[in-house]
Amino acid sequence: VPRLRLLALASHDAHQERLLARADRVADAAEAAVRSIWLTLLEVMQRGKDRGPAYWHSTFNAVRDALSRLPLVAHGVTRELVATARDSAQWTAETTARSLPVGHRAEILRRHLSPRPAAGDRHAERLEEEYTETDLVAGLILPAWEDHQILSVVYAAGWVDRLRSLTALSAPDVLAARIASGVQQGLTIQQIALEIRPVVQQVQTSARRVARTAGLWVAHEAELATYGELGDMIDGYRINAVLDHATRPEHRKRDGQVYHCRPVGSQLGLDRMPRPPREADGSWAFNCRCYLSPILSGT
Ligand SMILES: [Zn+2]
Repeated sequence: VPRLRLLALASHDAHQERLLARADRVADAAEAAVRSIWLTLLEVMQRGKDRGPAYWHSTFNAVRDALSRLPLVAHGVTRELVATARDSAQWTAETTARSLPVGHRAEILRRHLSPRPAAGDRHAERLEEEYTETDLVAGLILPAWEDHQILSVVYAAGWVDRLRSLTALSAPDVLAARIASGVQQGLTIQQIALEIRPVVQQVQTSARRVARTAGLWVAHEAELATYGELGDMIDGYRINAVLDHATRPEHRKRDGQVYHCRPVGSQLGLDRMPRPPREADGSWAFNCRCYLSPILSGT
């Protein structure tokens, strides 16, 4: 079995930790959006109490309006996902540029830049003076994306529907009626809040989980797109599982499996490759922490 030329394995753990932390920020954004709706509910209850028991309907309507905003949590998450894609690509380009073998770096520079600035080409000369070779390589392998291109990827994955369905309450009118009646009966806000808090908590937990998983997926897709800029310098990818008590048995089993860009014989191709935290068939593996390491060709 030939030894795999894995890229940047030394810093890979740190890199993945950074992407996980970035995905946590996406989850924070989702949680903050749900919390702001919770705060609106508390305000509505206070207003209902201030106005008195005759205003049942206005409390009911205001609560229903606030609850109907829950599925819009996806919008705030989408913004964070686009930023996540950019951060991830940037970090991946920098890590990769630092970690590539000298031969690969030289090849990238050779392919993209003319061998020597033309006489009098001040711009090219300045580039050579101001940027280190690592900076140049990082810049050359950073995917050139427009926001709309990232958005089309982000929206294509189906997580928006998932988040919408998880944050849409099954019976918002029933909940709104319960709150309005509680206010009318003179219950304290704490008493009403205690009753509806589990519902909101449930929504918040689901929103966090979906947003975090989507964040990790977007970060990994941006990472793959950056490796994709290396073209034929990449032979394939090896999948790695984080091995502990929480690892799925089937993810533990596939740990170390290699997927080839140009498969021969019985080798698995990229069409069979999971794209964590999604499986090869596109289904989501929530809370999956697996990741891919690129395998360099022998250039
Ligand atoms: Zn996994």
